[in-house]
Amino acid sequence: MSVGGAWEGGGTAVSARTGPAGARGTYDGGMTHTPALAKRVLLAQPRGYCAGVERAIDSVEKALAIHGAPVYVRKQIVHNKHVVADLEAKGAIFVEETAEVPEGSIVVLSAHGVAPTVYAEATQRNLRTIDATCPLVTKVHHEARRFSEQGLEILLIGHAGHEEVVGTAGQAPEQVMLVDGPLEAARVEVRDPSRVAWLSQTTLSVDETLETVHALRERFPNLMDPPSDDICYATQNRQAAVKQIAPASDLVIVVGSRNSSNSVRLVEVALESGAKASYLVDDAGEIDEAWLDSVTTIGLTSGASVPDSLVLGVLDWLRGHGFDNVEEIDAVRETLTFALPPELRRDIKERANG
Ligand code: SF4
Repeated sequence: MSVGGAWEGGGTAVSARTGPAGARGTYDGGMTHTPALAKRVLLAQPRGYCAGVERAIDSVEKALAIHGAPVYVRKQIVHNKHVVADLEAKGAIFVEETAEVPEGSIVVLSAHGVAPTVYAEATQRNLRTIDATCPLVTKVHHEARRFSEQGLEILLIGHAGHEEVVGTAGQAPEQVMLVDGPLEAARVEVRDPSRVAWLSQTTLSVDETLETVHALRERFPNLMDPPSDDICYATQNRQAAVKQIAPASDLVIVVGSRNSSNSVRLVEVALESGAKASYLVDDAGEIDEAWLDSVTTIGLTSGASVPDSLVLGVLDWLRGHGFDNVEEIDAVRETLTFALPPELRRDIKERANG
């Protein structure tokens, strides 16, 4: 599946780094050093699971282990079809709305976060809720409520219909206006241009978001900033890594599902950063051999909701097609982890105490 189109953003802004950038490492799969012009793979690091995704998947697995199947999950716990299928096989039942969950059952809320109305409905239906909203999304929810309490209109930069955007907008529905990119920044209308603030979805392109904010500030000079970056460390770091591999790549393959915002952004960033072509695939089975025509160097990365086993599957497939030199390009070291949701920690403790 191709996600095409030229990227039009400018500038760079990468933060939240937890280690040295630009160091080159060697993939530990027993590969030899890369000779010039040999067919090779540049493997981006970091890639794959972020701390919020690890926590969300762990939450469903721990809930199943403690309470037994079925455990209901509202929406895809993370945007990856393989992760969802794996959890379904273990006893999770995915639903679109809490209204589909039998009264009194356990329901896990996805990493993307929800509007307060969803908690209210879950309480009304007597559901036992485990909230796997990523703490970095919760932080944006707090910012939305704080701006709202100050009487500001909030320009929320994000993609219409994305679950995270729905959840964040739901924190202050009367005061949030969605801005889906720089073109909409030129059109959005507010009640009082002197009383506006901006927030963003966590998984956007860093460069495009800067461009959108710049366009908003041209129209609203008093525009207030969020207290810290809303685009999360994982999104920024994966984009930084793809920027390092793209200029030398004839082709960049991004492993991720089509509904994964951060994965789709990686394709765009790869194209903007100099890759001749870039494709999004759910797994090795979606790679088209024709993409390899005249290709010497392939960049490879994956979105924040992608298990590394799928990347290893792509590496195996590429090895079978002559790309047997793999060089890991180490952009950023990540060490962040999140504790499980408090309600789950309480259940685990109670179980341990008999
Ligand atoms: S991509 Fe960022 S915001 Fe989303 S779950 Fe991962 S760490 Fe949290």
